[in-house]
Amino acid sequence: MTTRKSSYRSLASLHRDLSRCRACVEAGYPLESMPVRVPGAGQHAYLFGQAPGIVEGEERLPWRGRAGRTLRRWLELEEDEFYATFHCASVTRCYPGRAPSGRGDRTPTPHEQELCSFWLDWELELLRPQLIVTVGGLALRRLLGFPSLTPCVGEQYELDGTPVIPLPHPSGASGWLNDPANRERLATAVGLVREHLSGIYPQES
Ligand code: SF4
Repeated sequence: MTTRKSSYRSLASLHRDLSRCRACVEAGYPLESMPVRVPGAGQHAYLFGQAPGIVEGEERLPWRGRAGRTLRRWLELEEDEFYATFHCASVTRCYPGRAPSGRGDRTPTPHEQELCSFWLDWELELLRPQLIVTVGGLALRRLLGFPSLTPCVGEQYELDGTPVIPLPHPSGASGWLNDPANRERLATAVGLVREHLSGIYPQES
């Protein structure tokens, strides 16, 4: 049963309700996992992806599969450092299942995205991150409304005064990095992320 309070005073209380959320199932969508959880606490940077994959859905933890390993390699962060650095969230928080075409995972519908934005809005309100990193086109579109990912990678934006740096999705299925110009964009974006992280966590970088 989904519980959504009119107000939250702590992330712990928000996440208790988030971890039981079934709003999309109650609206008729065929989700294949419960919401993933945010490992750890006290992070000052917010990582915003698209949706969990099958491994993440099973483990109920973000970025556990191959894409997560690629992302950590890009950012030059070990697994423990990665979870201590980023509060990991996504446009939707439950594994949406395979796409009807059989190619990849189903993209959450706009209605599911809207249902899940309740948790995003409250997390940003309570966490007040010092940096937001979006991963993939859908996360960027959802957060800043930009329709196209490529020209945004390597740039820095702002959301209510918080720097936002877009990254591409590290999925092995994407051919985006085959283009040398895109590899340059990624290197610039990773440099920006690491520069911000060294300011946010000075003693650890
Ligand atoms: S995707 Fe989000 S809104 Fe939908 S059931 Fe999962 S946690 Fe709830």
